[in-house]
Amino acid sequence: ARTSHHGTDPKSGGASSVAPGDVLIRFEDVRKEFRNQTVAVTDLDLEVRKGELLVLVGPSGCGKSTTLRMVNRLVEPTGGRITLDGEDIMSTDAVALRRRVGYVIQHVGLFPHRTVAQNVATVPGLVGWDRKRTKARVEELLALVGLAPETYSKRFPHELSGGERQRVGVARALAVDPPVLLMDEPFGAVDPEGRRRLQSEFRRIQSELGTTVMLVTHDIDEAVQLGDRVAVFSKGGVIEQIDTPLRLLSQPANDFVENFIGSGR
Ligand code: ADP
Ligand code: MG
Repeated sequence: ARTSHHGTDPKSGGASSVAPGDVLIRFEDVRKEFRNQTVAVTDLDLEVRKGELLVLVGPSGCGKSTTLRMVNRLVEPTGGRITLDGEDIMSTDAVALRRRVGYVIQHVGLFPHRTVAQNVATVPGLVGWDRKRTKARVEELLALVGLAPETYSKRFPHELSGGERQRVGVARALAVDPPVLLMDEPFGAVDPEGRRRLQSEFRRIQSELGTTVMLVTHDIDEAVQLGDRVAVFSKGGVIEQIDTPLRLLSQPANDFVENFIGSGR
């Protein structure tokens, strides 16, 4: 098995002083008010521990994506503070920050005129890896997400199913072994059967690498199945952080969960 280089590879942004299980990302009284005066997030206090997979679950429009996008500064908070590894992200160089924080979204936006291998290699290419190291890493990652390199490397995105494209997106995000990975409805485009497989494969890779993951979903089952912990959102922020995701099903945390379970589970 491969060992991870979190915190020791100079390209990953320097040594980390945080031990597994300690707080890696902290939101303190965070607020985001967009220019049109929409308050997407308010009074948000949230901790993400190193090496965990934290699920943010809640209905549409309650600020989950905004919360995620503040971590890599695609959205800038208008109040409060977010620290990564103890450092205020607003005083971190945005490019250096994004090197440490990978991002996977539902419609992965693969480059249509590049092959699968070239898509996965995009990021290491940017940070200056040589060709041989990049090729080896690409093949390793494709195998990890269940795409045999000899079959898939040379295909183009239009020659893949939605689920296969999603796998390429995950492989691309993992390419530089980011200490932190933000995932916004990452398995949404995958058919239900493929989704279950991809979820459990992803979980295995994530715990093997020790990657700290924040994953957004509106699917309670996905939250229960994937999360080490779950943060339940309702409009504008976290209602409750739950250490034992299964408890979501027996002890609904709020109306959202209650309604959700009441309606057709
Ligand atoms: P979720 O991911 O939980 O569905 P979002 O974080 O995307 O919710 O959105 C939270 C709220 O902020 C919504 O009311 C949404 O319309 C609003 N919002 C999101 N992005 C913007 C933006 N760029 N400008 C203005 N309002 C936005
Ligand atoms: Mg969203």
